[in-house]
Formats: sequence, C-alpha cells, structure tokens
Amino acid sequence: MKKHVIMSGMRPTGRLHMGNMMGALTNWVKLQDDYDCYFVVVDWHALTTEYSSTEEIKENIRQMVIDWVSVGLDPEKCNIFVQSNVKQHAELHLLFSMITPLSWLERCPTYKEQLKQLENKEINTYGFLGYPVLMATDILIYKADRVPVGKDQQPHIELTREIARRFNYLYKPVFPEPEALYTEFMVLPGIDGRKMSKSYDNHIEISASPKTIMEKVRMMITDPAKIRKNDPGHPEICNVFAFYKVFDQKDNVAELKEICEKGLIGCVECKKKLASIIIDKMEPIHQKRHELEQNPSIIDNILDIGAKRARIVAERTLEEAREAMKI
Ligand code: SF4
Repeated sequence: MKKHVIMSGMRPTGRLHMGNMMGALTNWVKLQDDYDCYFVVVDWHALTTEYSSTEEIKENIRQMVIDWVSVGLDPEKCNIFVQSNVKQHAELHLLFSMITPLSWLERCPTYKEQLKQLENKEINTYGFLGYPVLMATDILIYKADRVPVGKDQQPHIELTREIARRFNYLYKPVFPEPEALYTEFMVLPGIDGRKMSKSYDNHIEISASPKTIMEKVRMMITDPAKIRKNDPGHPEICNVFAFYKVFDQKDNVAELKEICEKGLIGCVECKKKLASIIIDKMEPIHQKRHELEQNPSIIDNILDIGAKRARIVAERTLEEAREAMKI
C-alpha cells in the first residue's frame, strides 16, 4: 500500500532545546517509520522576518540538523534537506502566488498576530504577507497528504487546501488536499514554568553539558509551600515534577508523587536525582552530537542526498503543474 506523505519543517533557529526534542522532534522520529517523510529546514521562511540579519543562518542550519540527527532522525528512513537547496519551491511559489487572492492572506490569523507581536520589526513586506503561500508550496510540491501540526497552525493547512483546490479547479487536478495530523505532544515547561522558549531564556538546550543541566535544574521553580524536607509537597504544581513525568518511568513518577506529598523527600535531593536522570538520557544524544561535530562532512552529505532526492520529486510535480497551466 502507498505510504502517506508527510512534510514538516522548522526555521533555522540554531541549537534546539529539550522542549523541541520532547515535542516535535520525538514525534518526527516516530513518523519516519510509518510515513514517507520530508523534513525541511525552511531558511527562506526565516528571511520573511529576519531578512536584515542573515549572518547566522548557515551555522543555525548546521546546528539544528545536528540536533535532528542526534535525537534520532535517520537519513535512511526520511528526507532531510534545506529549502533553498531545492529551487523548485521558488517556481511553484511564484505560480501559486498568481492564483492566491490577497484577501486569503490578509485574513490569516497568524499574519495579523505576528504583525502585532513583531511591531518593532519592519515586516510589512511582500514576502512576509506571502509566507503562507510558500508554506503551502513546501507541502504541495511533495504532494504531502498529512502535515503534523499544532492547533495554532490549522489556518495554514486550511489555506494550503484552498490553494490546492483552486489550482485543481482552474487547470486540472494535480494536488492533494492535505490533512492536519494531530499528535499528542509531550509538553515540557521552561525552568520557570512558562512554555519553554529561547525568547523567555527559560530553556535547556539539547546540547547542554551535564554541568549546565545541573545548574538549570537547580534553578527550577518548585512548590512554594514546600520549604523544609518534611513539608508535604504538591507535585502537580511543581516544575521539577513536570520534568520527571517526561524523563522518568511511570512507576518512579508515581512513587515520587507519594513521597513528595508525604514530605519524605526534600526539593534539593529531588532536583539532584532529576538532573542525573536527564544527564543519563542525554548521554547517547551527546555522543552522537559530538561525532557529527567532529565530522562535518556527515551532515553535508545528509543534506546533499536529501536535497537530490527532494529535487527529483519536486521537479516531477512542477512539470505536472506547468503542463496543467499550459506553460
Ligand atoms: Fe517538586 Fe520534588 Fe520538591 Fe516535590 S520534592 S515539590 S516534586 S522538587
């Protein structure tokens, strides 16, 4: 049976954090076994908001792909590449731009939201308005029929479906209408309890050294009512406990809950144990990371091969689109 095709991408933001790892990345690693997957570093998307500071893009791409592969993306099982290495995206983006009404883009909730959020940046540009069209292109050029997304990205999938529908109606059926693939992500909070994010500076990088992991865990916010060891704790409101739920085994988590609530463990000891669990879990990932950093040609090859494979599929789709449009 033909496998479903999945496309998903990330902007090149450099080294990823453990929130990224436990959320999207772990999900990608699972998907690569069951689907035909295209995982792309969307560097042109980065330009829609970061066009004036491009010095770090190349290194950010490398560091991010090192994290992808260290965590378990396997180039034998999925296609890993950089968007700007597959120029076909640019041509299809242009063709789609011709048939996409402006009103579809202007009403996009993420567009309005970002304009507000990034108001100190000059992003009132043609490229920024059109980025959902570029996103639709990234998906449709591989005829992806499943897109792993969070609920907030639903409007982009809807727009992608509308663009596919409009093209198929105007010319002839070339593109599938992709569906969102919702998956249960594990959510890892930042060390201050808010969403883990580089912009809040509350993150722990995948590449963080054991010393940094220990420091960050030490800084984690716990139950404020538990001051002394024998004070009964409330693990459900404790940030350290949220990490245990993601990193430790279920039985151990249940046991910790009990001894915390009974005041049989202090937060200092609890944090030390958590740090060593995280350090153990990250050890093989760090080893892989080290190997990839020592041998830059491994990542170069992965991206070369990924782009070659992607170009073949993308060119085939583009030929169909040109032929449908009679150009
Ligand atoms: Fe949190 Fe552990 Fe302290 Fe309980 S003992 S409040 S789980 S850090």
